[in-house]
Amino acid sequence: MPAPRHRSDVVVIGAGLSGLAAALHLEACGARVQVVEAQERVGGRVHSMRRLGHRQEAGGAYIGAGYRRVIAAAERQGVELADVTAMLAFFREQELVLGGELIRQSEWPDHPRNPFPGEDRALMPWTCHRVLAVRENPLAAPGDWLDPRFAAHDVPVSEWLAGLGFGEDAIHLGYDLNPSFGDDARAASALLGFFRAAFSVEQRRLAPDGVLGYTARDGVQRIPESMAGALRGEVHFGRAVTAIACDRSGAEVACADGAVYGAPHVVCSLPFGVLRGIAVDPPFTGRQAEAVRRLEAQPVTQVYLAPRSRFWEEDGYRPSMFTDGPAGMLAASRNGDDPSEVTSFTAWAMGRNARRLDGLPEAEAGRLVLAAIEAVRPAARGQLEFVDLKSWGRDPFARGGWAWFRPGEINRFAAEMGRPHGPIRLCGEHLARTARGMEGAMESGERAARDILAA
Ligand SMILES: Cc1cc2nc3c(=O)[nH]c(=O)nc-3n(C[C@H](O)[C@H](O)[C@H](O)COP(=O)(O)OP(=O)(O)OC[C@H]3O[C@@H](n4cnc5c(N)ncnc54)[C@H](O)[C@@H]3O)c2cc1C
Repeated sequence: MPAPRHRSDVVVIGAGLSGLAAALHLEACGARVQVVEAQERVGGRVHSMRRLGHRQEAGGAYIGAGYRRVIAAAERQGVELADVTAMLAFFREQELVLGGELIRQSEWPDHPRNPFPGEDRALMPWTCHRVLAVRENPLAAPGDWLDPRFAAHDVPVSEWLAGLGFGEDAIHLGYDLNPSFGDDARAASALLGFFRAAFSVEQRRLAPDGVLGYTARDGVQRIPESMAGALRGEVHFGRAVTAIACDRSGAEVACADGAVYGAPHVVCSLPFGVLRGIAVDPPFTGRQAEAVRRLEAQPVTQVYLAPRSRFWEEDGYRPSMFTDGPAGMLAASRNGDDPSEVTSFTAWAMGRNARRLDGLPEAEAGRLVLAAIEAVRPAARGQLEFVDLKSWGRDPFARGGWAWFRPGEINRFAAEMGRPHGPIRLCGEHLARTARGMEGAMESGERAARDILAA
């Protein structure tokens, strides 16, 4: 490895929210920091698709009312937040599509296809396991998921739902269509669902005066952009890290273009799917190595569509729908100033659905989604235009939308996988302990910075 031309106290790898939070915290305590970023932009999985128009987000969009770190960062940097409470009400309004049949929400509780038991027949498939995870949650606080007292809940979602009286069909319909964690209810840990549920309950509890959440008026990417702008040190763009070599004096971080950065400390914010492709010397060991090798990230692919007419007014169904086909969850975006106005559509595909789209050329994936929508909604024929597609699973700098755990993996490696490795401190949303999403990313970055300062 050539000698480093760039030296500082800390090298931060990755200019997403976690890396930038670490960098700002370290600088505030007097450290000299350099940030090395593979792409030509900051933000990582916060990505405002500005060319698609006003407030269209490909990544993190919703800022919960209790996201104190994200909200403080926005306020400190003068990024204007917009209240999305009125918009959120529309998210609950969607129709259901099963086996080619379009079913109104009002028809679902008594519908012959509804397999849910007893009072739970009133639950819609897209919200079923989330409502149950809130109602049945053994965790008192989000951070409890790592407490060994709750280790017995690190079981398959399917096992937990079966214990609530759900049969095979009900488990399939209540979890497997377009899941956020894994391909189906057997693949993912119920304990992770409880962590997410406890975190969202906390967000509602912290909502001041009924304001449920925010987004950034000019795109969420303004937040990492302004954080990067507030750094004294430089963000080095277009530098994809390929190797980290550690010795007693610190580490040298080498990039694909030959640049080398040296420092006594490194903060590495890379998702594990990316980190496992990087040569780390000495290598990770034990359960940390297992986690770096195995931790999954959910395939998430979004297809952006522009409406040519208000076809939903013609057929009388709501514009959004949750489907068991390639259109996944078709969400009407309301990104203008009037939340009742539909500005565009995003078809969300997750798990298997996303992998199926990822296997196709983009235009073909767009055609597949459009055909699936038009098959159930004749009024939409020719009225939606494919605009763009974003696959997080195919993104070489993300390798998925967010981390998730298989049953047993939380007990096996979640607590250990973030431990210091020589001069390297790891951070990123996958290493958050008490928060999720963007807030979790910032929590993990601040902790990595504090660990370095303590050392
Ligand atoms: C579709 C989607 C929707 C979401 N919606 C929400 C939401 O509404 N609310 C919410 O709170 N959260 C949401 N999230 C989650 C949130 O966006 C993430 O948790 C958070 O942005 C992750 O930040 P991070 O710093 O951990 O990782 P990242 O943002 O991924 O940062 C890692 C950085 O490392 C860089 N990098 C990668 N490889 C290399 C390399 N080899 N060398 C150098 N740099 C490299 C990347 O380019 C990136 O900038 C969503 C995520 C997705 C994908």
